[in-house]
Amino acid sequence: MSRVHNFNAGPAVLPLSVVQELAAALPDYQGLGIGLMEMSHRSKPFEAIVNSAVAGLRRVLGVPDDYKILFLQGGASLQFYMHALNLALPGEGTDYVITGTWAKKAYEEAKRCTAAASVWSSKATNFNAVPALDAITPRAESVYLHYTSNNTIYGTQFQGTPKVDKPLIADLSSDIASRPVDVGAHALIYAGAQKNLGPSGVTVVILSPWALERSRLANATRPGGLPAMLDYALQSENGSLYNTPNTFGIFALDRMIAWVESLGGLSAIAARNTDKADRLYAELDRSAFWRPHAEVASRSQMNVTWRLPSEELEKRFLTEAKAANMVGLDGHRSVGGVRASMYNALEIESVDFLVDFMRAFEAKHG
Ligand SMILES: *Cc1c(COP(=O)(O)O)cnc(C)c1O
Repeated sequence: MSRVHNFNAGPAVLPLSVVQELAAALPDYQGLGIGLMEMSHRSKPFEAIVNSAVAGLRRVLGVPDDYKILFLQGGASLQFYMHALNLALPGEGTDYVITGTWAKKAYEEAKRCTAAASVWSSKATNFNAVPALDAITPRAESVYLHYTSNNTIYGTQFQGTPKVDKPLIADLSSDIASRPVDVGAHALIYAGAQKNLGPSGVTVVILSPWALERSRLANATRPGGLPAMLDYALQSENGSLYNTPNTFGIFALDRMIAWVESLGGLSAIAARNTDKADRLYAELDRSAFWRPHAEVASRSQMNVTWRLPSEELEKRFLTEAKAANMVGLDGHRSVGGVRASMYNALEIESVDFLVDFMRAFEAKHG
């Protein structure tokens, strides 16, 4: 078997040890004579998996005891609508920080069911920056402020938790579990699992007591109540088992959390991610041949984006990179150029391999 250097943006590289653990669970889970995907979501063994995944996430992320953790479906894209539907009533103000494509989609969905407004945007500079942590001013009438922690497509990232005196809602899809986060400073966090926590098809939602209370209020106030599948309070009362969840995905997430803990938890993971990002940004800053997209103060450790002097050279770079066993480096069409995604499971060796390749490419074409 030969695995290539995988810089995919999501779904993305997983640790080989975890992939092997998942594969082993498919034909026969723990000697039960049936495979992981063949057992009831209401069985004892699966109940143990959900409980372990919830407890593991709580430990690793430092989720306060009075917060709830849910595993839902529909991706982060369903959360764009669901958080707004549950947390604000029709006509109530909600605030959005527009730092990229995903942030804008959250805002567009929230407009369907609340009086949503954009309170900050970097659209004019093609989303090359996020605001400073104390630079966002929510509207007095707004119920909450929503931000996107890491902008997967543009390669920018908030360097910490924004400071605002409103309940904070965060999309952590592409940097959850990559560094310590102050969960208690948030009213609600959501994240699709497919970047740092396993396969697609599971969405982590972390709810504060305030968020649950708001969900109950929305259910009582919105005409006809909330649709069952979109009701945080109902999902919470059923422990993520209101209907059949993605059992395989939740098992994978549990194994990913165990892997993070085996490396020493979030501070160790963060040090490793900083090391990887430093190596790549040092190369991007070494020569004017590379044209990094993000402003220095907004740089992402998860997704790094840059252009080359011409589209012709970019094409050549990507073709040669592929031939050298590196995949997933094509930039998203809205930025162009190159994007290297470096989620938790990407090894330092893959970053060094890319940097060596870049130096050789620049020497040849620069
Ligand atoms: C990938 C991504 C999404 C979309 O996730 P889906 O699970 O495909 O809906 C949303 N937000 C961010 C920040 C992402 O990186």
